[in-house]
Amino acid sequence: MRTRPLAACGAVTAVLAGVAIAGVTLATPPAAAAGLPYQDPARPVAERVTDLLGRMTLDEKIGQMTQAERASATAADVTTYRLGSLLSGGGSAPAQNNPAGWADMYDGFQRGAMATPLQIPMMYGIDAVHGDNNVLGSTIFPHNIGLGATRDPALVQQIGRATAEEVTGAGLDWTFAPCLCVARNDRWGRTYESFGEKPEIASAMTTIVTGFQGATLGGPASVLATAKHYIGDGGTTNGTDQGNTQVSEAELRAVHLPPFRAAVERGVGSVMISYSSWNGVKSHGNKYLITDVLKGELGFTGLVVSDWAAIDQLDGQQGFTQAEVVQSINAGLDMIMVPNDWKTFIGYLRAAVQAGQIPMSRIDDANRRILTKKFELGLFEHPYADRSYAATVGSAAHRSLARQAVRQSQVLLKNAGNVLPLAKSGGKLFVAGKSADDIDNQSGGWTLTWQGASGNTVPGTTILQGIRAAVGSGTTVTYQRDGMGVDGSYRAAIAVVGETPYAEGQGDRPGSMSLDSTDLATLSRLRAAGVPVIVVLVSGRPLDVAAELPNWNALLAAWLPGSEGAGVADVLFGDYAPTGTLPVTWMQSASQEPINDGDGKTALFPYGYGLTYSGGPTPTPTPTPTPTPTSPSPSGSGGCRVAWTTNDWGTGFTGNVAVTNTGATILNPWSLQWTFTAGQTVTQGWSARITQTGVTVVATGESWSPSLAPGASVTFGFNATRGASNPRPSSFTLNGTPCAVS
Ligand code: BGC
Ligand code: BGC
Repeated sequence: MRTRPLAACGAVTAVLAGVAIAGVTLATPPAAAAGLPYQDPARPVAERVTDLLGRMTLDEKIGQMTQAERASATAADVTTYRLGSLLSGGGSAPAQNNPAGWADMYDGFQRGAMATPLQIPMMYGIDAVHGDNNVLGSTIFPHNIGLGATRDPALVQQIGRATAEEVTGAGLDWTFAPCLCVARNDRWGRTYESFGEKPEIASAMTTIVTGFQGATLGGPASVLATAKHYIGDGGTTNGTDQGNTQVSEAELRAVHLPPFRAAVERGVGSVMISYSSWNGVKSHGNKYLITDVLKGELGFTGLVVSDWAAIDQLDGQQGFTQAEVVQSINAGLDMIMVPNDWKTFIGYLRAAVQAGQIPMSRIDDANRRILTKKFELGLFEHPYADRSYAATVGSAAHRSLARQAVRQSQVLLKNAGNVLPLAKSGGKLFVAGKSADDIDNQSGGWTLTWQGASGNTVPGTTILQGIRAAVGSGTTVTYQRDGMGVDGSYRAAIAVVGETPYAEGQGDRPGSMSLDSTDLATLSRLRAAGVPVIVVLVSGRPLDVAAELPNWNALLAAWLPGSEGAGVADVLFGDYAPTGTLPVTWMQSASQEPINDGDGKTALFPYGYGLTYSGGPTPTPTPTPTPTPTSPSPSGSGGCRVAWTTNDWGTGFTGNVAVTNTGATILNPWSLQWTFTAGQTVTQGWSARITQTGVTVVATGESWSPSLAPGASVTFGFNATRGASNPRPSSFTLNGTPCAVS
């Protein structure tokens, strides 16, 4: 419990007295609201809002503007104080951390809201910033920096949709995402929450807003999105979290404003203000930026929410004052994330209105914005959790989408002698590094807890598990976290190293940005064995690795991939040729920070850099196992076998195909043909060249895998659209010969 100033205690008493006069009965839900015009879904939203506003007391309006943390309020508080919204801070979960536990908690608070005379539903916000990451069992998608590397706004929209389904499945209706921060200094601990250092990436990725909300609010699994943190959070001097962004207005508008403009154009429902200052003025008190630019110039009609206890910081003093409430609400904030001192806030806001320090027109405008979103979300018609989406939480379809995002987010920075892709068979592989078998490291901050932590609590697949699954019985994989025991008998060593989890200011790196001593020791053991060293870097940002790079044969930036580590293995073994490109400039040394495209500094790897396999020289020869034929060759010396698996999502699917030459002659080039049904159209392929003419699809070898020897297999994959059903092709031919299908 924090100590409150005396004035606050007086104000709280006043609220309680007000409620006592209103004579609310908490036990029985009032029926008074039934049949009133604002309860009629047939009327236009604006009319419903006007009708409802006309019926609300000042206390009810103040309650709508208050957002409390779940652990600091009860359902009875929601009723008594007319609280308009609750939130979970990072890691703030109900005792039963599963979809049903969350939905039960939500419904409990909602019953509190439904017990008020006007029955205005509450909204519940959560940081679903890479999947619904507070809910145990959710699909954990790559953090934004990895999504930026994909440069694939359509994929990011699908991730928004999948996340919205999982958020809905846990009963909730509002996410504090996306972060549209443009990270200009990699020292900033929130760099991984940024899609990249240039505004155009974040602007393009506002497709995620459409993914979260759906085409319009109130559709299936529609979740209110939040563009954050307005404005300039990624531009602070030295990359200090919550710091001061010292730039001209022209630069603020050129670098930090465009993604918010794009989000507003997409109809984002809420905007969260940044803790940071612009040229010394805290954004939470900046009327010009909030009211004039965001609401005026950009035409934002949604609600503006504060960051966590951020208005406490306005006067630079410890504690929370009425003057700070006045300044922030008059600047244009509509809802305050209090989160614990909400009773004090209610007292101050009421006193300020009564003293004429905040005009009623401002209170009504804030309420209009909040209530409009509640009506649009359909909360008045469906206030309780929609449990029908619970089965989507961590579903196979969502994990498959996440794995595809992981594949696409990998950026190959070095590949000396084409050591990658690795063959899946022959010899032995050594795997080491503190993040090889640590799914919580690969998930980063904002995962189950605010800061995240090392460990294996997130359900999913570690990178090591992905590697083991990729090679199957073809290769012996030896894992030793610290690299002990490696010797020259291994074909290659894979080191999965980098950063351990952090969030916000705890992640600021004002000093060294190098690998830690644990990683350096692991790497030197691998190097000493004299085998090729492949470094997979799990990190929230570029690290200072230039001095070590000459000792590494390959470097793959994996960012913070989340729960589907198999996507990293897909790239290592060539099931997916890398397509990711740097969304940030990679420093030569930490002393170059900030370093950004176009600033004239010489990077280690420039913005947009990224290698791939196709087109490159032939990689290390791939020894292929002799498969046991499972079916007789259909004819003479020819013959083939196809294994076909798919992972379906909404309107598309990922196909994985393995084709084996069971004939006696080498096929050079090889060419697999099949027929799709209407609606099945390949949009992207990997590890093979795939062309489609009408319904006929042909896959041929890449330049680095053009031929198929007798007994050899090749695997490739693709993304495609689909119709309502998604039938497997009825037949396949390899160089004209029909194949057996499994
Ligand atoms: C962060 C926000 C987050 C909020 C609620 C703040 O500390 O800056 O990004 O949405 O907490 O957890
Ligand atoms: C909460 C976070 C919040 C942070 C702000 C933490 O205690 O869990 O959600 O962002 O405080 O400092």
